[in-house]
Amino acid sequence: MATALKFAQPEERVSNFVSRTHKMLINGKWVEALSGKTFPTYNPATGEVLARVAEGDKADIDLAVKAARAAFETGPWSKLTASERGRLIWKIADLIEENLEEFAELETLDNGKPLKVARAADVPLAVDLFRYMAGWTTKIEGNTIPLSVPYTPGAKYLAYTLREPVGVVGQIIPWNFPLLMAAWKLGPALATGCTVVLKPAEQTPLSCLRLGELIQQAGIPDGVVNIVPGYGETAGAALAAHPGVDKIAFTGSTEVGKIILQAAAGNLKKVSLELGGKSPNVVLGDVDLDAAIAGSASAIFFNHGQCCCAGSRLYVENGIFDKVVEGVAARAEKIKVGSGMEASTDMGPLVSEEQLNRVCSYLESGLSEGAKAVTGGARQGDKGYFVKPTVLVNTNEKMKVVREEIFGPVVTVIPFKDTEDLVTQANNSVYGLAAGIWTRDIQKAHRLATQLRAGTVWINCYNIFDAALPFGGYKQSGWGREMGHDALEMYTEVKAVCAAL
Ligand code: NAP
Ligand code: MG
Repeated sequence: MATALKFAQPEERVSNFVSRTHKMLINGKWVEALSGKTFPTYNPATGEVLARVAEGDKADIDLAVKAARAAFETGPWSKLTASERGRLIWKIADLIEENLEEFAELETLDNGKPLKVARAADVPLAVDLFRYMAGWTTKIEGNTIPLSVPYTPGAKYLAYTLREPVGVVGQIIPWNFPLLMAAWKLGPALATGCTVVLKPAEQTPLSCLRLGELIQQAGIPDGVVNIVPGYGETAGAALAAHPGVDKIAFTGSTEVGKIILQAAAGNLKKVSLELGGKSPNVVLGDVDLDAAIAGSASAIFFNHGQCCCAGSRLYVENGIFDKVVEGVAARAEKIKVGSGMEASTDMGPLVSEEQLNRVCSYLESGLSEGAKAVTGGARQGDKGYFVKPTVLVNTNEKMKVVREEIFGPVVTVIPFKDTEDLVTQANNSVYGLAAGIWTRDIQKAHRLATQLRAGTVWINCYNIFDAALPFGGYKQSGWGREMGHDALEMYTEVKAVCAAL
C-alpha cells in the first residue's frame, strides 16, 4: 500500500514542469507560437487537462526550418569533428539517464502507460539508442573503388565514396513511446551531422519538450534540434511539404504515411516511414506451452497493444488451440488495469478519447460480425480511457478486426492446420512489420522466418528491441529501417569522388 501511495502523485519537480505553459524550441530559444495559440494535453487516466502547450503551425515550422538550415550550413555544428559530435550525443544519454524517474513520470502522466513500463523500457531504451548512435559518429565511412573505365585505356584513377549528412530533416512522431520515438529519430540524425525540426504528437509533447532542455544542456548548438509541437494537419503537414527540408522521417499510421509521401513530392525530399502493422504471432503444436502463452499475451498486451508491432493476430496450431486461448485469456484477466501512476498497475488507459472510441468501435464491429470475446470486449469503467484486455475467437479473415490495425489490447486467436496454411494466412495482410514464432523445432523456426514477410521476426520471444537491431516494415508497414547501422543510411547521401592520377 505504501508503495502504491508513493507513486500515486508525481514528484514535485515533475508537477512543476508539467504545470508550466510550454513553449517551443526554435534556434536555441524557447518561444511562444507566432499565433500566440496553445493547445491542451490530457491525462488519459482522468480525461483532465494536464498542461497547455504552444501550438506551432506553418509559420513556426518555417522559422524552425530556417534555423535548422543555418545551423546545418554555417553553424558550429557543421565544423565539429565526428568525435566531438559523438561526445555531445553521449552527453544527451547521460542526462536522460540522470533524469530517468522524471521522464518515466512524464510519460505516464501524458501517455497513460504504467510507470514501471516507462522506467524499464521507454527511458532506458532511449538512453541506449543515443549511446549506440554516439559510437557511430566516428565510423561513418565510405569505400575506395577500383575503376576499369573502358574508354580511357591506361588511365588511372583514385575513386572513393563519402557519406555526407542528408541535411535538414523533418521528423514527425507518434504518441505510443513519446521519448523513445524522439530518440529513434534524433539519434541517427545527430550521429550523421544533420539538423532537425521535430514535431511530437499532439497527445504527448511533454517528454519531448523536456528532452529539448537536456539537449541544450548537453551543449548541442542552437538550431541543430528544433522542437515544434502542434497538430498533424497544420504543423506536421507544413513540415512534410516544406521545400527547405531535405528529408522527412515519419512514424505513425499508414494512412498519414501516404499523405506524407504526397506532401514530400513537391521537392522530392527523401522519405522514411515507420507505419502500422497487424503482426502474426505463431504458436506451433510442439511448443513449451507456458512460455508461448506468457509470451503471446505480452506480445499483444504490452503497452496496451499500442505498439506498431503488436502480435495482434495469434495463429495457433489446431491441436493446442483451446489450451492457448484459455491460457492467454487467463493472463488477460490477471492484468491489473488502472492509473499508470499506481505501482500495482499492469495496464494503463489508452492514450486518448479518440483512441478509446476507435478501439471500442473495432470491438463492436467484430462482435456484431460474429466474433466471440473469450474475455474483455468492452471499455472498463466510465472515467479515463480504459479498455479491458480482450481475446477474440470465431473470427474470419474478412473481418476488420483481423485485417486492420486496432492499436489496442485486442488479440484475435486463429487456428491453422499446417505450415502451408499458416504462411498463407499470416502473409495475407497489407502490412509486414513483425512476426513471432513459438516452437521447440529450431529448424522449422528458421525456415518459417524466411517465409514470413516481415521486417522483424522474433523466435521464442517478442517485443525485443535493441538499438543495434534494425526495425522497419515490409509492404505497407513502411520504407527504410530505424536503429542499427541501417538507420544511418537513411540520413546520409553517398558522394562518389573520382580523381585522375
Ligand atoms: P497519426 O495521425 O498517423 O499520427 C502520427 C503523427 O503524424 C502525429 O505526430 C500526428 O500529429 C502527425 N500527423 C497527422 N496527420 C498529419 C498530416 N496530415 N501531415 C503530417 N503529419 C500528420 O496517428 P494517430 O492519429 O495518432 O493514431 C491513429 C492510428 O495510427 C492508431 O490507431 C494506430 O493504428 C496508428 N498508429 C501507428 C503508430 C506506429 O507506431 N506505427 C503510432 C501511432 C499510431 P498529431 O499530433 O495531430 O497527432
Ligand atoms: Mg492524430
